[in-house]
Amino acid sequence: DLLDGGAKEETYLSKLRERNEEIGAFLSLDAARGKALSSGDGVLRGLPFGVKDNIAVEGFPLTCASRMLQDLVSPYTATAVSRLLEQGAVVVGKTNLDEFGMGSSCDMSALGRTNNPWDLSRAAGGSSGGSAAAVSAGMVPFALGSDTGGSVRQPAAFCGVYGLKPTYGVVSRFGLVAYASSLEVIGAVAMDLDLLETVFEVMRGEDERDHSSLDPEEDDCEVRRIAVLTGDLGLEAPVARAYERAQEVLKDLGFQLVEVVLPELEYAVPAYYTIATAEASANLARYTGIRYGHRPMWSENPQELMRKARSEGFGPEVKLRILLGTFVLRSGFQDRYYHKAQRVRTLIRRSLEQVFSSADVLLMPVFPTLPFPHGEGGLSSFQQKMADRFTTTANLAGVPALAVPVGREEGLPVGVQVMAPPFGEQRLFQVARAYR
Ligand code: GLN
Repeated sequence: DLLDGGAKEETYLSKLRERNEEIGAFLSLDAARGKALSSGDGVLRGLPFGVKDNIAVEGFPLTCASRMLQDLVSPYTATAVSRLLEQGAVVVGKTNLDEFGMGSSCDMSALGRTNNPWDLSRAAGGSSGGSAAAVSAGMVPFALGSDTGGSVRQPAAFCGVYGLKPTYGVVSRFGLVAYASSLEVIGAVAMDLDLLETVFEVMRGEDERDHSSLDPEEDDCEVRRIAVLTGDLGLEAPVARAYERAQEVLKDLGFQLVEVVLPELEYAVPAYYTIATAEASANLARYTGIRYGHRPMWSENPQELMRKARSEGFGPEVKLRILLGTFVLRSGFQDRYYHKAQRVRTLIRRSLEQVFSSADVLLMPVFPTLPFPHGEGGLSSFQQKMADRFTTTANLAGVPALAVPVGREEGLPVGVQVMAPPFGEQRLFQVARAYR
């Protein structure tokens, strides 16, 4: 119990603030407020945690790392967070992200920079980079993120911690600021596997305030067969080595490896970015500067107010995606882009079903590169998108996936991910436990 109200708590909080100056994991810290919110005396009693700043916690800022919502304080708490509070966990602050969850580095945040704890000159990954960095740096034992196309798993892999993206719908999205609603789910990162599983079990289950939420189905599969990808996957050499090493380890542990090819992987990124930007352009239409969001100092008329609010409030990546989304949804273009992407999505779901008919789980890389440097020496926004092919697959198919740290290459952490059929989270934990 780090939050005991005594000297131990003082030491913890001052260390937390100090560490944050270096890492930039948290956009806001307010443990006193967090303690006042936490009611329960359950399995998570006294455990501090961080919440990605696109998930609502009453009385805390809810900025989405955007100038648009810089001054917003949330009047309510997300269901996933409430359930953790009822078990005694304590929110200590809100963590950094790429603006509205759009990116793979945290460098798209309009409100701060997050450094990878393993090498401060490198990105923590994204979009839940603040949460992954906070856990990796030992600031909190666990933190929440959201995963629309890899945003929990990729930063977890970059920071050397576990990151779970649950089955679509198994964790309520009530209180998660929408980016691409049909793809995203709240997940968590942790250094400890048992804690991660407990956090998941506390958060999951149907919620009447999210009609797409549902209770998980029973799954008692004992994992024996693990599908692995063969052929040239376009991985950086150190990442390819780590993926091969993980396969060796699993084989030595007695698992049967089943080689598969997923030709559809090539289409995951175009399908994902068509669907995600289409949904984003609709979801972000609510930020007009009238009901929500940044309000310009001065404007002639309502049209100009909206134009100014959106021009000043959104960063370049968000604008790019809104433009892409409106483009693919334009009348006359829908068959060419949006509907085609939906067909690819179905294909990907079917081909994963095929994989899961011959194997219990699928082992995949998370991201083709090691944590890349901030700025010029890193990946361009386009390269980052192309690199999302392994993560977005799980979101397009709605299946659960767990990023597992598998050691270091060139002094930097590397992860692999395990995917299972819907509701197969316990399979993921089985494999990760055996690996540990
Ligand atoms: N890299 C993905 C994107 O930029 C990740 C998004 C996410 O999961 N929130 O869309």
